[in-house]
Amino acid sequence: MLAMRFDNDSIPPMFEPDAESMPHEQRAALQTDRLRGLIDRLLAAGGTQAARLGQAGVTGGGDARLDDLARLPTTSKQDLWDGYPFGMLAVPRDEVVVVHGSSGTGGRPTLVSYSRGDIALWARMCARALAAAGAGPGTIVHNAYGYGLFTGGLGIHQGAIELGATVVPVSGGMTARQVTLIADLRPDILTCTPSYAIRLGEALAEAGLTQQTGLSLKAGIFGAEPWTQEMRTRINELLGIIALDIYGLSEVIGPGVASECIVAADGLHVNEDHFLVEALDPLTGEPVPDGTPGELTFSTLTKEALPLLRYRSGDIAALRRGDCECGRTLVKMSKVTGRKDDMLVIRGVNVYPSEIERVLLAEPAVSLDYVLVIDERDGQRELIACCERTTERSGNSAAVAPAEHGAGPARAGAGYDAGSQDDLRAALRHKLREALGIRVDVAIVPAGSVPRTEVGKAVRVRRWSAGEPPVPGLTG
Ligand SMILES: [Zn+2]
Repeated sequence: MLAMRFDNDSIPPMFEPDAESMPHEQRAALQTDRLRGLIDRLLAAGGTQAARLGQAGVTGGGDARLDDLARLPTTSKQDLWDGYPFGMLAVPRDEVVVVHGSSGTGGRPTLVSYSRGDIALWARMCARALAAAGAGPGTIVHNAYGYGLFTGGLGIHQGAIELGATVVPVSGGMTARQVTLIADLRPDILTCTPSYAIRLGEALAEAGLTQQTGLSLKAGIFGAEPWTQEMRTRINELLGIIALDIYGLSEVIGPGVASECIVAADGLHVNEDHFLVEALDPLTGEPVPDGTPGELTFSTLTKEALPLLRYRSGDIAALRRGDCECGRTLVKMSKVTGRKDDMLVIRGVNVYPSEIERVLLAEPAVSLDYVLVIDERDGQRELIACCERTTERSGNSAAVAPAEHGAGPARAGAGYDAGSQDDLRAALRHKLREALGIRVDVAIVPAGSVPRTEVGKAVRVRRWSAGEPPVPGLTG
C-alpha cells in the first residue's frame, strides 16, 4: 500500500514543510538569529574558536550578518585533531550522550560528540532525507550502511524511526543474507554506499531477483563516498531504481546535511536552516559565485556539543539557488566532484578519481567495478585504470532498459566483441587523455579481478610500489 507513494505522480510530503519550503527572506532572518546565537555560545565556551573570534575582533554575535561571513574565522579538521578527543566541547562533558567519528587516514580517528539535542536534530535531518526520497510512515527501509563509530548506519536508522518508517538494520556485509531479506521483506528503499549498491545489485541479479521478477526496491539513498552522474545512470540500470545522493560528514552531523529529492533527482537540498553553507576557493578561502565549484564550508547553527563556525570540509561542489519542483526552497549543492584528501598528483597534474570514473562509466562496455592503480615501481607515478568488461551479472533493469530492447545480458560489451578488447582499451585511453590532459593507461582485467566492496566504502585507488600487482590479472 505504502509503495503507492512511488507509483503516482504526486509529490511526496516533506517531513518539515515549514522549514524546508520557508520563504527565502524568512529563512535568512532565522539563519541570522541562529548565527548570532552560535557566536555567543562559542565565545562563552572559550577555547580555540573563541580565541579566533577574539583575534578577528568579534566580541559578541549581535552584529553578525550573513553577507559578512567572510570576516569570521574558519575551522578545519586539524582543529578537531588538535582538540582530540573532547577538547572542543561547548557543553559539559557529561552532556555528551554519544561519540561518532570517521577513520581518518593517519590512524587517529576524527571524533565528534553529540548531545541529546544533537541526536534529535540528526534524526530529523535524516527523516527529511528519507521523506525526500518518497518514504513515509511504514515504508520499509533496508539500511545497509555500517553501524558503529561511522555515522552512516545509525544516522539513517534514527531518521527512519523519527519518520515512522520501518527500518531493517542490516548493516554492511553478508551479502547473501541481504539478498534474502530484500526478497522476503520487500523494502522500497535501499540505503548504503554507492559501491555497495553495485555489489548488492550484482548479487540480486545473480539470484534472479530483478524488477521483471518482482524486486521491490524503488529508490536508493547512497552516500559516504563521492559518486558521479555516470555512476547514477548505471546504478539506476542495474537495480531499476532511482538512485539519490545524500551528503554529510561526521564533523557537521553525519548524513542528512543535504539530500536529493526524488521529484527532481538533480542536486542535493542543503538543510541550511541548521547548516549554513558557503563555497570557498580552496586556495584563497574567498567565496566563489554560485555555480562555481568551491570548498563546502559549514556553520552548524544549532548544534550543541560540538558547534563549528565556518568548518572547511575539504569537499568540492557548486551551490545553486532557486526553487525546486518538489517545493523546497533550500539551496542545492551539486554532487561532490572531489575531496581535497582524494586528489591524486600524476606527473604534476591534479586528478580527482571522479574525473576518471566519469569517463570509464560513460562507456557501457565497462563494468561498474573499477580500481585505479598508481604504478610507482620505477620511481615514476603512472596511473592505470583497471576495469572489467560488462557481463551478464552487471545490468538487469526493466525500468530503464525495457526487455524488448535486450535488457541486461544483450547489452553486455556493447560494440566490443571478443577480440576487440584492444579497441576498447584504445578508445578509453583516448577519452581519458582528452578529458584529463594526461596519459592514463587502461587495463581490461578478467571478470571478478576488481575487489568488491562488502562493507563500507570502496577502495578505488591502490598503490603498486613493488612485487605482485594489487589487482589480479594486471600485468606490468
Ligand atoms: Zn527538490
